Amino acid sequence: MKIYNTLSRRKEEFVPIEEGKVRMYVCGPTVYNFIHIGNARPMIFFDTVRRYFEYKGYQVNFVSNFTDVDDKIIRAAKEEGVDSSVISERYIKECKTDMAGMGVRPATTHPKATEEIGGMIEMITTLIEKGFAYEVNGTVYFRVRSFPGYGKLSGKNLDELESGNRTLLVTGEEEKEDPMDFVLWKPKKEGEPFWESPWGQGRPGWHIECSVMSQKYLGEEIDIHGGGEDLVFPHHENEIAQSEAASGHVFSHYWMHNAFLNINNVKMSKSLGNFLLVRDISKQYDLSILRFFMLSAHYRSPLNFSPELMEAAKSGLERIQNGLVRLRDEAENCAEVGADQGAVREAAIRFRAQFEAAMDDDFNTADAIAALFELVKFANITDPAQTGRADWDALRAAALDMAGVLGIEEPKKELLDADIEALIEERQAARKAKNYARADQIRAELADKGILLEDTKEGVKWKRK
Ligand code: AMP
Ligand code: ZN
Repeated sequence: MKIYNTLSRRKEEFVPIEEGKVRMYVCGPTVYNFIHIGNARPMIFFDTVRRYFEYKGYQVNFVSNFTDVDDKIIRAAKEEGVDSSVISERYIKECKTDMAGMGVRPATTHPKATEEIGGMIEMITTLIEKGFAYEVNGTVYFRVRSFPGYGKLSGKNLDELESGNRTLLVTGEEEKEDPMDFVLWKPKKEGEPFWESPWGQGRPGWHIECSVMSQKYLGEEIDIHGGGEDLVFPHHENEIAQSEAASGHVFSHYWMHNAFLNINNVKMSKSLGNFLLVRDISKQYDLSILRFFMLSAHYRSPLNFSPELMEAAKSGLERIQNGLVRLRDEAENCAEVGADQGAVREAAIRFRAQFEAAMDDDFNTADAIAALFELVKFANITDPAQTGRADWDALRAAALDMAGVLGIEEPKKELLDADIEALIEERQAARKAKNYARADQIRAELADKGILLEDTKEGVKWKRK
């Protein structure tokens, strides 16, 4: 399995630190608004990475943070006249709703920066003790020149950085030993959230959060660290400096970065005002279509969002889902032993291999989707009556596994009115017999298929969601 490592600028064979296990950390959103579709790209892609590792039999410890202390959150809180935590809690909740809609599974742990301040103070203290950081008037800075590997991820040269930074020095930062040094802890300002620390009341810088949360939940050395390509510098470069200076060894073995999402071929950004929220998209499309659209390109290629491409994604996804339905519903029409002499089973093996080859090549989801399209095309022209049931099932299992990695669900079987009514009757009988467990089970089963029950005086009524 090959992964493009931003650190070495080439594809490398993936070798986990611990056999059969993957420890990965992905930088999560700053929660001051609904997430936009740019934020959705790393969420969807790294969820797919995680799913593929699991498909390969790895146990994945996947950590993704919420940055819930930040200037933008503080500004939004001031505008609304509420506490910062009101803003961050609201948008964490909304973000989770969007993630669920996009089929992004919750991470193993979603730490919040504000709940990890103690760990940040500890790491900063260690960095000061080791000479990698210093305090001036309540601000703690990382001493960039003290860390020999600085620049190795972004390929930046210290002297170039230095001359660039000198002209960029902002007021209040003249106290730095070196213009390149970055903030680990800053003193509080009036009306801002703050924590007690050995350097006075204040709050952490952004970069230290990820170093600390990653170390706490995954250990000092991790397999994969990911995020959007805008994070390479300075965020990830600074994370490496902090973590490796504190621990004395390698922080992350592989660094993965997704390219940006553009809108109508223009970079999507808040300042240009051309960003789209995931929530806006959900009003027009099922978010599974947004997910499919994102995976239709390789993650290291820029991706352009347009209504035409979303329509294409919609019909592509439908084609796959119809194929999954056919594989499910036609299974009962299969022969005991197929007249096709195992051709379907062989095809299942071939499509699976094609899919794995694509995913093993730095998660080429575009080619992986192509393999699934080919499988579906094959399934559509395969006659179940000529196919042995076990062979058909092998093809179906391959389709479901591949779809599962991509986060594509098999559509739920439509329940006919008569089936629903029969289940409701069975539920009434179960209740009469005081078999409440079965009655609840039926209600849950129906709810799962989008049927809501309402117990009224006139009896049980139902409706489709
Ligand atoms: P932020 O909330 O800005 O820290 O971003 C959260 C994540 O979304 C980071 O991994 C960013 O790199 C990523 N991201 C932000 N905008 C885009 C975009 N337009 N395309 C792809 N990824 C993005
Ligand atoms: Zn981060």
